[in-house]
Amino acid sequence: MAMVSMRQVLDEAAKGGYGVGAFNVNNMEQIQAIMEAARETNSPAIVQASRGARSYTNDRFLYHLMMAATELYPEIPLVLHQDHGNSPETCKSAIEMGFTSVMMDGSLMADGKTPADFEYNVRVTREVVDMAHERGVTVEGELGCLGGIEDGHGADVDALAHLTDPDQAVEFVERTGIDALAVAIGTSHGAYKFSKKPDGEVLIMSRIDEIHAKLPNCHMVMHGSSSVPQELQDIINKYGGQMKQTYGVPVEEIQRGIRSGVLKINVATDSRMAITGAIRKVFVEHPEHFDPRDYLKPARNAMKEVVKARMISFGQAGHAGDYQAIPLSEIAKQYKGQLVSA
Ligand SMILES: [Zn+2]
Repeated sequence: MAMVSMRQVLDEAAKGGYGVGAFNVNNMEQIQAIMEAARETNSPAIVQASRGARSYTNDRFLYHLMMAATELYPEIPLVLHQDHGNSPETCKSAIEMGFTSVMMDGSLMADGKTPADFEYNVRVTREVVDMAHERGVTVEGELGCLGGIEDGHGADVDALAHLTDPDQAVEFVERTGIDALAVAIGTSHGAYKFSKKPDGEVLIMSRIDEIHAKLPNCHMVMHGSSSVPQELQDIINKYGGQMKQTYGVPVEEIQRGIRSGVLKINVATDSRMAITGAIRKVFVEHPEHFDPRDYLKPARNAMKEVVKARMISFGQAGHAGDYQAIPLSEIAKQYKGQLVSA
């Protein structure tokens, strides 16, 4: 199957009542881990790359790795998504490179750090929607700000002070025409999200219900949604790591979000931790090894297992064969139809 529009994958998820994990990648092994997990669970897959990932891999390597994935896993609907585009130019270069979905994060200024005002956010997001929809490419926007910094991106604000406002969300979706909305509900990027298991005081799941009530057809996205499992922290620390005790977003809270209209769940940290734990274990147990395959294979496998577990608990498992890819050119026509009728 050719790479598909994220809008199609999320529309199908909405129909089927399940969520779809979006997993960040920086290299071949991570793409392979996701594709194997998708095959073993028969799941549609969203692979996403941040600006940092694109500069690390170089776009051409990333593009051809993804093309290889579509050839080797033809049964998997596969999306390549730009995570946290900081400007229309970044989104434009992603679209030109072959991404089938882009995020324009206009909640922050182009520096990726300074919180932006609402009008700026509407303007840059609308600009990207016009450019992307013309080519059938999906657009995710963000309203409100997450805590934490990842890949150099993030305001590092108090997550609770910048929650998504439900009324403003209605106006934002109407004025921008986005396909998916990233909501701020108290989560943060990176591993250090919560200092204890989160409750309703710090992880405001009720905000999702409030937004869903006002925007029942809006595809919501949860960022910063790694679960940061205790067992992965323990493996890393057992083999010489020094991660401070931390808590992520429990899988059951994500499942609750999915029941309230969340369709895309971003996961990066859990994959990184699985990889790091597996590599540390090999280094400690087999200090004589020096072939990178001796640690990259278990690392790839560890990431595959965590991705599989998420695909199963988000509900996307079993749904890869539900639909055929609609060509982006066809989706572009559908968007045009909407504009004409609007
Ligand atoms: Zn994010």
